[in-house]
Amino acid sequence: MMSSGKQTVVRTRFAPSPTGPMHMGTVRTVLFNYLFAKNRAGVFILRIEDTDKERSLKEWEDDILENLQWLGLQWDEGPITQTQNYIGSYGPYRQSERTEMYQKYLKQLLEQGRAYWCFCTQEELDAQRQHQLSLGQAPKYTGTCRTLPSGKKDQYLNEGRSPVIRFAVEQKIIAFHDLIRGEIKFDTNLIGDIVIAKDLNTPLYNFTVVIDDFEMKITHVIRGEEHISNTPKQILLQEAFGFSRPTYAHVSLILAPDRTKLSKRHGDNSITRFRKEGYLPEAIVNFLSLLGWNPGTEREIFSSDELIKEFSIERVQKNPAIFNIQRLDWLNGFYIRKKDLPQLTKLCIPYLTARGEGSALEPIVALYQERLKKLSEIAELTDFFFQKNLAYPKELLYWKDASDADTKRMLDTLAQLLSSIGEGEWTKEKLAEIIMPQAEKQKNKGYMLWPFRVALTGKKASAGPFEIAHVLGKEKTLQRIQEAVARLS
Ligand code: GLU
Repeated sequence: MMSSGKQTVVRTRFAPSPTGPMHMGTVRTVLFNYLFAKNRAGVFILRIEDTDKERSLKEWEDDILENLQWLGLQWDEGPITQTQNYIGSYGPYRQSERTEMYQKYLKQLLEQGRAYWCFCTQEELDAQRQHQLSLGQAPKYTGTCRTLPSGKKDQYLNEGRSPVIRFAVEQKIIAFHDLIRGEIKFDTNLIGDIVIAKDLNTPLYNFTVVIDDFEMKITHVIRGEEHISNTPKQILLQEAFGFSRPTYAHVSLILAPDRTKLSKRHGDNSITRFRKEGYLPEAIVNFLSLLGWNPGTEREIFSSDELIKEFSIERVQKNPAIFNIQRLDWLNGFYIRKKDLPQLTKLCIPYLTARGEGSALEPIVALYQERLKKLSEIAELTDFFFQKNLAYPKELLYWKDASDADTKRMLDTLAQLLSSIGEGEWTKEKLAEIIMPQAEKQKNKGYMLWPFRVALTGKKASAGPFEIAHVLGKEKTLQRIQEAVARLS
């Protein structure tokens, strides 16, 4: 007979409410769930918590599904399309499609007297609250409807009051071990009977989470620390049903460099924004995994597979992590440099719309592969290649104290030298071979190379003139030098 030694399969879940764009902080929570599950050869589940019918939108669900896929954080169970289809044995994975199951459990609690209908109006609740505050007490529901005589119930129903369902909270100390924070204790005396459903068809968060975590056999709940205060409520509900308790890990906040909670005030932190700006998924995954997780070495570069291998929840820190955009930029630059040119060009094309064919763009992208921090920068860095007429003030052509006449002389010399190079030998090496000896004859080579580069780009900063001239080709290079000369005279 098979007995001990059989280990429970780790099952984690990401349970977003589709009520807005997915943020970087949320992605980090997903990542920890994903890495933890994969590290233990477990199962990663996506569950859409869309019980709030007004605020939940398909648009935001799409945003979640699409971004997770883009990041390569593929779920093993969860919704797969916009229809009712899903993968996994415990579906459906949208809470809006699980009402019947919640109803069954709600009825069970009501029948057992562990939950009850509460008819208190908002005005009555507000008055209760004010009264408690005036006595210096922490406000909580006093349990008025726990023992309502049935005559009273009928009267309220006749009055047209619509009751909610409250869970009768047992007074006790709840203690749980959090994998990140250690022992946590709560006195449920502070909680008061919580509303778990607006009616039998409209269960609320703390209730649905408990049912789903049980039904979906979730072993580990890894989520943001804002949910710590929900945990005792959820544990009480689990106990009322006799469900097993998952292991909890509450991940700390991400702070902005000013050490306040990362929020809209610090700019748009949605994953879509970073994606649009041209951050690569591998850079974001690498960056976020190191926000709060300490790999125990100085190492900074981790592929997805390496993260899966190395990740451990014990090394996730209790202290909040700081969001450092320079680090993300640095990592992104690293992953951009690792791409091969055709791949990188393909990724850059959306930022270079209608500017040419892939392979024709490769030499242009190649010029900037080393210095790109995010793909969107390619647009501004390379715009001069595609412009018919460059717009820049003629003074930009002057190197230091060079006069109009000095600059014109340099450009004329350049035009002459460049004309002598045949189309067939128009390489950056050949260009340098011909131009450099002349440039070095000047007081400083900048007197020749600066106006050369500005004539070709119209910019203060760019790649070097030989590389650019090479990509532009002989005809365009000479034409741009003539245009610059024309500005000067
Ligand atoms: N749906 C909840 C939220 O988006 C998450 C619940 C949980 O992880 O327990 O905040």
